[in-house]
Amino acid sequence: MKDRTLLMIPGPIEFEPDVLQALGAPTTSHVAPEFIEIFGQALERMREVWQAPTGQPLILAGSGTLAMDVVGANLIEPGDHALVLSTGTFGDRFEDLLSRYGAAVTVIRVPAGETIDFDEVDQVLDRGDFKLMTGTHVDTSTAVRIDAKRFGELGRTHKVLTVLDGVCSVAGEEILQGEWCLDVVLTASQKAIGVPPGLALLVVSERALVAWESRTSKVTSYYADWGKWLPVMEAYEKRQPSYFGTPAVNLICALHVSLGQILAEGMDARFARHAAIGAACRAGLKALGLGQVPTNDGHAANTLSAPRYPSGISAGDLLPRVRQAGAILAGGLHDQIKSEYFRIGHMGAVKPGDLLSTIGAIEAGLRAAGHCFELGAGVAASQQVLANV
Ligand SMILES: *Cc1c(COP(=O)(O)O)cnc(C)c1O
Repeated sequence: MKDRTLLMIPGPIEFEPDVLQALGAPTTSHVAPEFIEIFGQALERMREVWQAPTGQPLILAGSGTLAMDVVGANLIEPGDHALVLSTGTFGDRFEDLLSRYGAAVTVIRVPAGETIDFDEVDQVLDRGDFKLMTGTHVDTSTAVRIDAKRFGELGRTHKVLTVLDGVCSVAGEEILQGEWCLDVVLTASQKAIGVPPGLALLVVSERALVAWESRTSKVTSYYADWGKWLPVMEAYEKRQPSYFGTPAVNLICALHVSLGQILAEGMDARFARHAAIGAACRAGLKALGLGQVPTNDGHAANTLSAPRYPSGISAGDLLPRVRQAGAILAGGLHDQIKSEYFRIGHMGAVKPGDLLSTIGAIEAGLRAAGHCFELGAGVAASQQVLANV
């Protein structure tokens, strides 16, 4: 039997063989002409994937949290007012992070499973004097999606910078950064972008760069300072060598391949594939009698699902058995409901067959754990959705 278990967690995900091959190729100099070309093209491809024709892409060695930190370091000065929209653990992370840089942070926090009401955000923005607001497009702790388009629109009308944490959405959920007026859209390599962990990726608007240029105090982080990295990114795009800190050469080669694959699929086709697989996953889980954390399908993410355990069954009863049956899933993350639910990642290179295998493995696990349901009902319901797209 093939010694592989499907990795269906919300990052790292399953990677394409060509991406992994790029990672394993002999490492060149970071200023070798071939690498300069690859780095330059990767930056150009990011602009297309983010749909941000005038945005400034940045590729840094680090995880998604570094991408968030870069925002705090460059766009916050002590005393600035920031609004954090929190639908879970990753929203809360921004509250702590921005306050480290001296921001006075206001948080709109919703109970686990609910999404942001932007009419309320509109009112809060009316009353306050905010420089910046953050939103988590898909909070990976709750599988809740916010309306990123409305988020961008409100930022523009209220003249507040918008920072979208797209770590669990970029290249999986629809984002038109330019059209939606989002100032920073950030992610990490290991999620829907489809590259092993290690890269922090951001695309920054002209408006955000102007805000950064008009700072009165120095950026306090040495590594994260845009002043160090912008000349490097600009040089590579002009196909010129440059250096501040050694770039993650192999990861950038892998990113170049993955972004090429994403663009070859086409952004609209890619979003539609994620929407179909997300809907099929939710239908399968529902047919097995499982509830979910998002309170409404309308704001349930397409990149991951967060089903609740049936009563009497715990993480320890189910997840090892699902793994035994062929799929690795993740446990709960949100502090308040951690033991009540689990998470299935379905983003990036995920195919309908991967989802069907996963639902099948969940059925096997549920049966072994003693849950009562009609065997095959989940797979049938998922198939039904996939057949009708
Ligand atoms: C994974 C994730 C992060 C953190 O990324 P790391 O690469 O783990 O540092 C931040 N925000 C969201 C929405 C995520 O899913």
